[in-house]
Amino acid sequence: MVYSIQGLKRTVGMLCLSFCTLPALTYAQQQQETITRNGYTLEYTNKSSDFDTAVGRRLIEAFFKVYPQEAARYNRKTAKKVGFVIDPAYDGVAATSGDVIVFNPAWFRSHPGDIDVVTHEAMHVVQAYPNGSGPGWITEGIADYVRYVFGVDNAGAKWALPAFNPKQHYTNSYRITARFFVWVEKSKNKDFVKKLDAAMRGKKYTPAIWKKLTGSTLEELWNEYAANPAI
Ligand SMILES: [Zn+2]
Repeated sequence: MVYSIQGLKRTVGMLCLSFCTLPALTYAQQQQETITRNGYTLEYTNKSSDFDTAVGRRLIEAFFKVYPQEAARYNRKTAKKVGFVIDPAYDGVAATSGDVIVFNPAWFRSHPGDIDVVTHEAMHVVQAYPNGSGPGWITEGIADYVRYVFGVDNAGAKWALPAFNPKQHYTNSYRITARFFVWVEKSKNKDFVKKLDAAMRGKKYTPAIWKKLTGSTLEELWNEYAANPAI
């Protein structure tokens, strides 16, 4: 691998004598690395000076393990090149815009085992849903379903699908919706998520798709799930 230091800026207010020390200099540095494996390229940029490099390596390894699997299952035309940016200026956990995933290093300081944030966010790259493709709870439900299925170390992050309870609703999104999708696949159609994902990407999603893929409307499915939520 090759590390290149870019954006190195130093401000020196006086002539530097031989005993001048580096910490007296102000500088911003970022580490960039481009890695290609099996036709997929990851451009990794670390803008955080104290981000644990071992966590960074795990994020990279997770990408090369899960992204090709997600692409093969859901969208072979997905981007061949993806960007990771470790950005202290971002205050969420992680976010994906197009083919670039931004990670908050502070989250990984407190949750160093949460490597499958990559699995969820990389699925958003694969999804590449156009504007107006369908409900946001489907988008996030699919991403967490994929984390559940393809995750490299969900147990290590103590990440699991929550047990069903009657206060839940499919529009709760994320893990609650993901668990519903697991149930739909086990009970009705093992390719349900694959077909739902393709419909969203192709702007073919309509409420009629539930009946078409499962024989039941969305409300009927949820009521059946709520009555017998075992997965
Ligand atoms: Zn998401």
